[in-house]
Amino acid sequence: MPDQPSRSRLVVLAGPTAVGKGTVATCVREQHPDIWISVSVTTRPARPGEIDGVHYHFIADDEFDRLVAEDGLLEWAVVHSAAKYGTPRAPVEERLAAGVPALLEIDLQGARQVRATMPEALMCFLKPPSFEELERRLVGRGTEGPEERERRLRTARTELAAEAEFDVTIVNTDVETACEELVDLFRSGTSRVNS
Ligand code: 5GP
Repeated sequence: MPDQPSRSRLVVLAGPTAVGKGTVATCVREQHPDIWISVSVTTRPARPGEIDGVHYHFIADDEFDRLVAEDGLLEWAVVHSAAKYGTPRAPVEERLAAGVPALLEIDLQGARQVRATMPEALMCFLKPPSFEELERRLVGRGTEGPEERERRLRTARTELAAEAEFDVTIVNTDVETACEELVDLFRSGTSRVNS
């Protein structure tokens, strides 16, 4: 990848629950190893198949609080009123200083914090083709029970309304296309696309 304007070195991917942010990020990881993807810390337990240090750094609540107190996180949030999630600051700053394109896949609250503290970041909103499709995906992945699913759908409705806060929108109709559109953001140096 040739040298690009610095404003698109950091891309933040956010969007409602179950829209497929994780799947799109996995596609980027597999097909574009030149893009570094931040590994978040979280206090939620690992799901089957998740590897500590790869999908997340799974840490205890007091360790998370210590990181917050030390200003070790670029942003953090309590997601779905349950666990805490945060982006370790040092690895992001190191990659940016070295000119490595960096991607953060985080929730809306975290995205707002990054926008405030790092205005050079390009904010990308991933949205589903429709709310019904989002519902189908949440049911289909089967990682949440009915109550948790209802809670996440309520959150998703609010989150969908946040699209206008973002620079660019990608509709996640299929993963491969969304992945390529996301990668193009690093190349094009796109800034404000949403009106
Ligand atoms: P899950 O528990 O399903 O892996 O993730 C739940 C939500 O937490 C997703 O919306 C994901 O984008 C968000 N998330 C993951 N890592 C971070 C992070 O470091 N910071 C913030 N604010 N949200 C995160």
